Amino acid sequence: MATVVLKPGRDKSILRRHPWIFSGALAEVRGAPEDGETVEVLSSQGEYLAKGAYSSASQIRVRIWSWDPDEEISPDFFRQRIEKSIRRREGCVDPTQTDAVRLVHAESDGLPGLIVDRYRDILVMQCLSWGIERWRETLVDVLVELTGLDCVFERSDVEVRALEGQEARSGPLHGGTPPERIKISEFGIEYWVDVQHGHKTGFYLDQRANRKTVRQFANGREVLDCFAYTGGFTLAALKGGAKKSLCIEASAEAIDLGRENVALNGFNPEAVEWVQGNAFQEMRKLRDRGRSFDLVILDPPKFAATAAQAARAARGYKDINLLGLKLLHPRGILATFSCSGGVDADLFQKILAGAALDAGVEARIIQRLSQDCDHPVALNFPEGAYLKGLIVCVE
Ligand code: SAH
Repeated sequence: MATVVLKPGRDKSILRRHPWIFSGALAEVRGAPEDGETVEVLSSQGEYLAKGAYSSASQIRVRIWSWDPDEEISPDFFRQRIEKSIRRREGCVDPTQTDAVRLVHAESDGLPGLIVDRYRDILVMQCLSWGIERWRETLVDVLVELTGLDCVFERSDVEVRALEGQEARSGPLHGGTPPERIKISEFGIEYWVDVQHGHKTGFYLDQRANRKTVRQFANGREVLDCFAYTGGFTLAALKGGAKKSLCIEASAEAIDLGRENVALNGFNPEAVEWVQGNAFQEMRKLRDRGRSFDLVILDPPKFAATAAQAARAARGYKDINLLGLKLLHPRGILATFSCSGGVDADLFQKILAGAALDAGVEARIIQRLSQDCDHPVALNFPEGAYLKGLIVCVE
């Protein structure tokens, strides 16, 4: 087996079981490993530390599979990891409440670079590392075997693959092409999901519990849902008794599906107004027209992947949150989110405090939110905690 040797003093994070080895920590690579090949990681003294997948083009040169010297990285290893990962969901996601679940959440489930989402009887797989790429066929077989499902579709058409030197790719992997739309249900609400062309693997499963929370604040309220995608929060709000909702979303395809989602659940189409546009600009227009709402939801895309981009991201968050707060009636509620890994919960709260100050409102956090339980955060991988949300009430 090829080996990589760390520089002196660079074994601390791997001893704490962080699963990434950055290129700067490597002293030497022995044996010319191919991308995705399993390598042994040795300390500068030559002691065994772990086994992982090599990636020549990435800053993250090795992603760890196992710390156990006796564990072989084989189809059986992947069967065990995936089996455990699926079991982990059994205690947290109630199958009577939803049929759309993240089954594998990459590093946090001990499978760096692998995402698997289940939408009813369709599996959608994302391969985000060379290690996963190398074992792709095995992983498909194991997933089919363990879930008893037939259809596996790949959505590895994401930008991060470029950082690995991998091309974007999407298409059927097993059991043919899935239907254009899959109907999923979530706490009594049905949503159409387009796994072939939708964002991520088709739906924002990480917000499931938060949609349910927001629903509890919606009764009798007039809602502004910014970055609405296919109406995830709006439908939850309507189910919770919201009077109406104004949805702002950049993607026309998402809006089309959102309209159909409203119809699918039998809500009055007049209750939802869709505006296709840039939320930053549209919110300004609403402010200039003197509009106000009882419940404002802000669920923007990622503004910062890394801490290095945090300053620019912070300006974006400040901007929309300031506008969001200004668009609230007295005693209104703001449900605001950030899925930027580079903006942590402390910084996000500070940004909100600054926005409230500038908006001239007295505001209180009444609930703190995070990604749902099928997107766990392994304690040895704090980077896995990316989604944070605050429910804020104003006076
Ligand atoms: N709340 C949704 C998920 C939102 S994801 C749910 O629960 O399902 C963020 C959305 O913001 C995406 O649909 C994306 O198309 C949209 N978006 C990105 N930039 C935007 C912008 N500047 N203005 C409006 N929408 C934008």
